[in-house]
Amino acid sequence: MSEFASEPSGAAAGGSGGPSANAYPLGLRLAGLRVVVVGGGAVATRRVPALLDAGADVLLVAPDLTPALRAHVDAGRLHWVSRRFAADDLDGAWLVQVAIDDPTAAATVSAAAAERRIFCVRADDRNAATAWTPAVTRYGPVTVAVLGGGDPRRAVSVRDAIRALLVSDSAGPGEPLNAPAGGGDRRGRVALVGAGPGDPELITLRGWRLLSEADVVVADRLVPGLLLDELRTGVELVDASKIPYGPSRTQEEINRILVDRALAGAFVVRLKGGDPYVFGRGGEELLACAAAGVPVTVVPGVTSSIAAPAAAGIPVTHRSVAHEFTVVSGHVAPESPDSLVRWEALAGLRGTLVILMGLKNLPSIASTLLAHGRAPGTPAAVIQEATTGGQRIVRSTLGEVTDAVTAAGLRPPAVVVVGDVVEALGVAGLT
Ligand code: SAH
Repeated sequence: MSEFASEPSGAAAGGSGGPSANAYPLGLRLAGLRVVVVGGGAVATRRVPALLDAGADVLLVAPDLTPALRAHVDAGRLHWVSRRFAADDLDGAWLVQVAIDDPTAAATVSAAAAERRIFCVRADDRNAATAWTPAVTRYGPVTVAVLGGGDPRRAVSVRDAIRALLVSDSAGPGEPLNAPAGGGDRRGRVALVGAGPGDPELITLRGWRLLSEADVVVADRLVPGLLLDELRTGVELVDASKIPYGPSRTQEEINRILVDRALAGAFVVRLKGGDPYVFGRGGEELLACAAAGVPVTVVPGVTSSIAAPAAAGIPVTHRSVAHEFTVVSGHVAPESPDSLVRWEALAGLRGTLVILMGLKNLPSIASTLLAHGRAPGTPAAVIQEATTGGQRIVRSTLGEVTDAVTAAGLRPPAVVVVGDVVEALGVAGLT
C-alpha cells in the first residue's frame, strides 16, 4: 500500500464528486466525535495520532494491531474491536479511514459509509475515496495542509518547503510569517527557553519558534551564538553576561529586565544554555515574573549533563553497566561549609556521576570521591564545549583525571563524567 495512497493520482479523479470536481478543503473539528479506522497496520499507525490529537473518539476495527497501536489501546486512548469490519461499526461515526489494502474489503467499508453519508478516506484507492488526507505540517498553532492537485508527491514537497520556510523564518527582516496577528496574545509575556548545549540545531522546535516571535531576547553567556545571529532585525537583544554587578545583583537585574519589558507589552524570550531548570536559575526567574503578575511559559532544553557525555560517545546509562545517573554541581568545593552536596554519599554510588561547573574544584572533588571509596581506576572523561566547534574530550580515570585535565589545558564550560559508562561503547560510541 502506497504511502501517498489517500490522494488521487489523476487530477480528474474524485470519488463520488464526479470526474472534474476539485477537492474542497476543510478543517474538521473532531473533538469527541466518533472516527472509525479500519485496519491495524502501518497506515493506521500513521493516521491515528493526528486523530487522537484532534480529540476524536477513535474506534479501531482490525483483527491485529501493530505494537504502537496496541500501546494506544493499552493506554485507553482509543477503542478496539478485534475482528474484521462490519457495516454497523459505522453507526454514529462522522468519518471513516480505511487503512487496509484489500480492495474488496475496502469497497465494503466505502459502501457502508456512503449509505450513512459518512466521508470515507481510502488508503488503497484514492479514486474511490470521498475525502483525501493532505500532506500536513504543524508549527505552533498553525496547521498547513497541502493537496497536490492529484499529485501526492508534489503535495509533500510543497509541504516540506512551507515547513522549511516557517522554521527558517526568523532569519528575515520584519515580522515573522508565523507571528500572531497584531502581536496576538504573546505580548506582555515571558518564555524561559532552553537553548540546548551549544549546537544551534539542538534547540527544540518550540524554543526556535518562540525565539522567532520574540520582541526582546535576554541571552546567557552559554547560549549558542548562531541562534542569536539569526534573530530578525528589530529584536532587542540583552546580553545577560554583560550586565555589571556581582552574581546576585546580576540576577536581580535580569529579573527586573524580564518583568519591565513584559509589563511594557513585549514578548520576552529568556534564552538559557541547556535546560532552564538545570543549574540555570530558571526557577528564580519564573518566581520573579509570577510575583509581578507576568505570565511565563517554560520550554525545556537539551541539557549539557546528558548531551556532553553523548557528544563524547558516552551514554549516561547502559544496560548492565549503570542503572542510575546523578547530576551534581561542582561550583562549591566539597569541603566548603556552603556545600549542599553529600559527596561521601555520591562516592558510594555505583552509577554514573555527571559534574557540571566542576573544573575549578576538580582536584578536591576527585580526592573526596576517592577518599570515600570510589575506585581510582573508575573511568572518567571531561568534555569541554560539547557539541560546538571547540569541543575537546579528555578520557582518563578518577585517580588521574585532575592531572589529565591540567595537562590538556581544558577550560570551562566542561562536563565531567565518572563511571563505567565512559568505556561502555568504546570507540563505537564516537560519531
Ligand atoms: N542549564 C545548563 C547548565 C548551566 S550550568 C544545562 O542544562 O546544560 C553551566 C555548566 O554547564 C558549565 O559550567 C558546564 O559544566 C556545563 N555546560 C554547559 N554547556 C556545556 C557545553 N557545551 N559543554 C560542556 N559543558 C557545558
